[in-house]
Amino acid sequence: MDYSEYGKLKKQLSFNLQEESAIRSLNIKPDAFLPVLFSFKFGGDWSFKTRDLEALAVKEKITHYNEDRKEGYTLERVTLLVNPQLMSTHGRVLRLEKCGNKKEREMVERPYRVELQAEDIILAELNPGTMEIVLKRIDGPLFFEGPAAYGVSHEIEHLEGLETSGKYLWEFKYRLE
Ligand SMILES: [Zn+2]
Repeated sequence: MDYSEYGKLKKQLSFNLQEESAIRSLNIKPDAFLPVLFSFKFGGDWSFKTRDLEALAVKEKITHYNEDRKEGYTLERVTLLVNPQLMSTHGRVLRLEKCGNKKEREMVERPYRVELQAEDIILAELNPGTMEIVLKRIDGPLFFEGPAAYGVSHEIEHLEGLETSGKYLWEFKYRLE
């Protein structure tokens, strides 16, 4: 193994140890944290289900940009909900979505706003500006709107095992103006 390979491995091991210790300090079931890791590693929203727990992670991206300095960073806020309960939904939005499990995009209907409660809620914020991941336990209920609400609705469907299927792109009609 060359030196750079060794250095990388050492950093990865230390990252994993930090992660383990953070999960232990949060006093959360290790499995429940998996959707957060998936969201940071692969992007997007994730859900995970075992016999005794359901966990859902929804990601919001917020760009902080300074016009004068012409620089900024995109904060990734992942909200982890353990055993989530959908309290209410508001509105209906038609949209095309691509699920990781499917080959092509489908048109589905999602609520514009959702209200969620959960047994445990952890906020994980990844900041590329400081290269820190900040973890914080927060209280519900939580409200999500727009893209985050669509993501929540999509993942809740996975957890409930009732995935809707909709119309495809090739069912649309072109119209020239
Ligand atoms: Zn999906």
